[in-house]
Amino acid sequence: MADYYELLGVSKSVGTDEIKKAYRKLALKYHPDRNQGSKETEDRFKQVTEAYEVLRDPEKRSIYDQYGEQGLNRGAGGASGFGGFDFSDALEVFMRDFGGFGDLFGERQQRGGSRSRPKGEAIKVRVHVSLQEVATGVAKTLKVAILDTCERCSGTGSADGAAPGICATCQGSGEERQAQRTVFGQFISVVPCRTCRGEGRVIEERCPQCHGEGRARSQRPIKVEIPPGVTSENFITLRGEGNVGLRGGPRGEVLVLIEVEEDARFVRDGAHLRYDLPITYSQAVLGDEAEVPTVDGTVRVTIPKGIQSGEVLRLRGHGLPELHGRSKGDQLVRIVVWTPDRLTPEQEEAIRALQEVEDLAPEQLDGDSGRSIWSRVKEAFTQA
Ligand SMILES: [Zn+2]
Ligand SMILES: [Zn+2]
Repeated sequence: MADYYELLGVSKSVGTDEIKKAYRKLALKYHPDRNQGSKETEDRFKQVTEAYEVLRDPEKRSIYDQYGEQGLNRGAGGASGFGGFDFSDALEVFMRDFGGFGDLFGERQQRGGSRSRPKGEAIKVRVHVSLQEVATGVAKTLKVAILDTCERCSGTGSADGAAPGICATCQGSGEERQAQRTVFGQFISVVPCRTCRGEGRVIEERCPQCHGEGRARSQRPIKVEIPPGVTSENFITLRGEGNVGLRGGPRGEVLVLIEVEEDARFVRDGAHLRYDLPITYSQAVLGDEAEVPTVDGTVRVTIPKGIQSGEVLRLRGHGLPELHGRSKGDQLVRIVVWTPDRLTPEQEEAIRALQEVEDLAPEQLDGDSGRSIWSRVKEAFTQA
């Protein structure tokens, strides 16, 4: 085989850059994509690539300089040897160092300018809100543990803080074409570049702080506006507030999962709140006024006389707002006539006196005061 230096048309004293330049020029000239599969140029392509592959490597070059091609082929067990360099090896070498063929002729399809960097992973945070806060809506500032830009390298991931260089393997495309020669012909497959893992850029020396990730653990205050009327089924997506991506990639999302705290006093029913108001027999019979807690403060409610246990008073507008709606729910106050199970002698005497004169309960509750009590809702008369 011809002398490697002669093949590349360079002198024995040139540096690696010169060799690379000379090879690139020849490789483009003899590249099979440009020569319609001519056997002659294919062989030339293989030869110049083989020469380049040896001379670009200082170790192989020095063996070649001392012992010639034989020296390379003599490598122990073939592991460090150089025998059997074939055409597909040549294509791989070319693509490893110069990327896809199209790139070099400006034929590569533009993918919207610079390669889009992967954004940071989404994170979930839980926020607890009280029923009062559901009623009014609330702005909260959450301390969220996220991955933030590494301060040492400003997110570049490189030790000197410089922007990562274009990956020499894929020329920044992030893709690698693998040529495979099979009995069916040559196959070219496009895979993510192995050198840069598809990013198109590589770091010379990794930042010692973040090990080249360009990001570090941090606490970040994140403000979230929780609208009135939310439930525990709702969540809020904050775009661009979360983890930064690798090496300066854009921030990902924060999913704020809402957890409405239980309030022992109320049972939520959509926008309505149910509330049980225990009253005494005499209050039920004679009527009274009572203080009732609501999400917007205590209100005084008039208990109409003769109210039945189980009847419901509606406090209009004292419920919760509908999410993104204009209307507000009501608070439904269910009357529960409480029966004492312990009496003082004085109380017992009074009750016995009542028993002497009271009417018997009807055998069956009819119509208005019967079963329908459970669904009957009276408009309550309230004072703020
Ligand atoms: Zn760093
Ligand atoms: Zn690459």
